[in-house]
Amino acid sequence: MPMRTTGFRIAKILGIPIYLDASWLLVFGWFTYLLAMNYRQLHPRGTSADHWTLGILTSLLFFGSVLFHELAHSVVARYYKIPVHSITLFIFGGLARIGREPSRPIQEFNIAVAGPLASFFLAGVFGAVMELLPSGQMVGALAGYLFWANASLGAFNLAPGFPLDGGRIFRAIIWGITKDFSRATLIAGSSGKVVAYALMGIGGYWVFYKNDWSSGLWLGVIGLYLLNAAQQSIVQMTIRDALAGLHASDVMSHEVPTIDGHITLEEYGAEVLRTGRRCHLVLSGDRLVGMMNVHTLNAVPRSEWSNNSVQAAMIPRDKIQWTSPEEPLLRLLERLLNADINQMPVVSGATDEAPQIVGIVTRDSILRVMQTHSELASQLSGK
Ligand SMILES: [Zn+2]
Repeated sequence: MPMRTTGFRIAKILGIPIYLDASWLLVFGWFTYLLAMNYRQLHPRGTSADHWTLGILTSLLFFGSVLFHELAHSVVARYYKIPVHSITLFIFGGLARIGREPSRPIQEFNIAVAGPLASFFLAGVFGAVMELLPSGQMVGALAGYLFWANASLGAFNLAPGFPLDGGRIFRAIIWGITKDFSRATLIAGSSGKVVAYALMGIGGYWVFYKNDWSSGLWLGVIGLYLLNAAQQSIVQMTIRDALAGLHASDVMSHEVPTIDGHITLEEYGAEVLRTGRRCHLVLSGDRLVGMMNVHTLNAVPRSEWSNNSVQAAMIPRDKIQWTSPEEPLLRLLERLLNADINQMPVVSGATDEAPQIVGIVTRDSILRVMQTHSELASQLSGK
């Protein structure tokens, strides 16, 4: 499911909002410190202010390099009319959030390859600066770091494990050959797990055999992050497969319990306990005025249940989110999760005049479909 954008918004470039995750500040401080210490060793005759200024400048330029890499992905995505929602810089680098999956393998290939190419281009620029300046100068040392950082950024991202760029390139190639997007995602996701375990293995080797704790732990943490991301992409694909072709009408319950808005919360609680139904539409006379459920009930302190009516605590009619029988289940699930709600009434008849409530869809009913699908799938494949 799509992650929500977090962090502070720091700029807008080419119309794309740029966010800075709080974790980035940590890395920024740490890099700046390491660099300043390094510059001090390399150029002991410079002042402390020189070392720190150069450290900050290098970190900022590195930050700009990561941003450049993400912008390269974004520009190609836009070329294919895929909207780019945001770019977030966080502890492991950058993340461009694009509006949808590319619709053809060649698009995915080009979007993915643009990032590493941009990094290699910057490595070339800083490499040239490094060659032009005498090696003793501090600016030469700065260019040297950024050459190395951009070259590593490009190379690391080419590792063939999803969700790294290399993994996306790999997926695009399999997708192009097999014409099967979900199979390609599963294969690239599995190779992502292999890359993740390899990184953790190398990290462990550095810690235990080379006594290099900081690099080893860093690799281990990146490995863990990638493992999690690869697993998530496999889960997402499984969900997508399970819900493909299904709509709200397939899982909705046709029975929609109603309740009178004037009863107290105490009485509502008793009704829930008696019937086991967790969600009701609230009526005032014949009129629909809102929706009430256990979640909303629990938000009111127990001691106030007897003094408050359902109508005072319910979700008012204009705040209710609706679905239609035709809404694809995958999109409906995303909406439920994004809004953090458990159920949505289903309304039929698009005309505003006579909308008719025909049922209700709950998160549980969608999860049941996914569970049944995975049980059947494992039986069919003989596992
Ligand atoms: Zn990238």
